[in-house]
Amino acid sequence: MDYIVFDLEFNMFFKFNEGDTANPGLKNEIIQIGAVKLNEKLEAIGKFDLLIRPVIYKRINPYVKRKTNINTRRVVQGTPFSKAIESFNSWIGSEYILCSWGHDDILALRENCLFFGFDNLAFNKFINIQQIYMNLRSLAQQPKLESVVEGLEIAIDSPFHDAFSDAFYTAEIFRKVFDFSDDVIINWEKVQEDNELKIEELKTQIDKATIYCPECGEFVPKDGEVTKKKKYFAFGHCVKCDLHIRHISRIAHDKGEYSIVSNNNIYTTDEVSE
Ligand SMILES: [Zn+2]
Repeated sequence: MDYIVFDLEFNMFFKFNEGDTANPGLKNEIIQIGAVKLNEKLEAIGKFDLLIRPVIYKRINPYVKRKTNINTRRVVQGTPFSKAIESFNSWIGSEYILCSWGHDDILALRENCLFFGFDNLAFNKFINIQQIYMNLRSLAQQPKLESVVEGLEIAIDSPFHDAFSDAFYTAEIFRKVFDFSDDVIINWEKVQEDNELKIEELKTQIDKATIYCPECGEFVPKDGEVTKKKKYFAFGHCVKCDLHIRHISRIAHDKGEYSIVSNNNIYTTDEVSE
């Protein structure tokens, strides 16, 4: 069993021109995959570094460009995702655990595989190295890779926010914090499928929320409502208090749990006329 410590850089929607719209099927498009392969003794036995040519968000978002130093001219010469993911898949071998810093990269990797129709990669074994570090230090907040690298006195030889450098640093942290226990391995595929089911279930319930007046606590009839993808808005008027009430329900995510969070706020009629 090998550990594939990977990191991604991705590009996302930016409104360069009037009429540009985001693709609802793909939030983050991968533009670089970097990875280090470690054997069971955590010795580095291989590396992977590939720039990917985006096809959905072809022009690099200025924020991404600033952060990663990757520009549109560079990615144009990159490998198409379909080819890149195939070579990544054959490079990682058949017995592997995907490992990364936090959840963002595994989310984006799965999202891109689903979007581009690649289903050969297994997401059933995943280790979140950031989570191991947080448990070890009893941290509630997610620490940045940079600060942990500095804190562990790992030599900084290459810039951060390059997929290969970040994968390399993450592997260095992994060596220092890993405890070889099995309970750190997450079945990411199952976690995501369960989450998706839960979200679907909550979507069917979200517009059944009731409005009440935060002043007197009485229920208020709905005068209007709008249902969005993961949000629900409703409006009402409390006759007793003569107050306008704005209700928002949304599907919230906290520590792996999804739930509907509702708020009832008073607003003034000045806001209505705006
Ligand atoms: Zn009231």
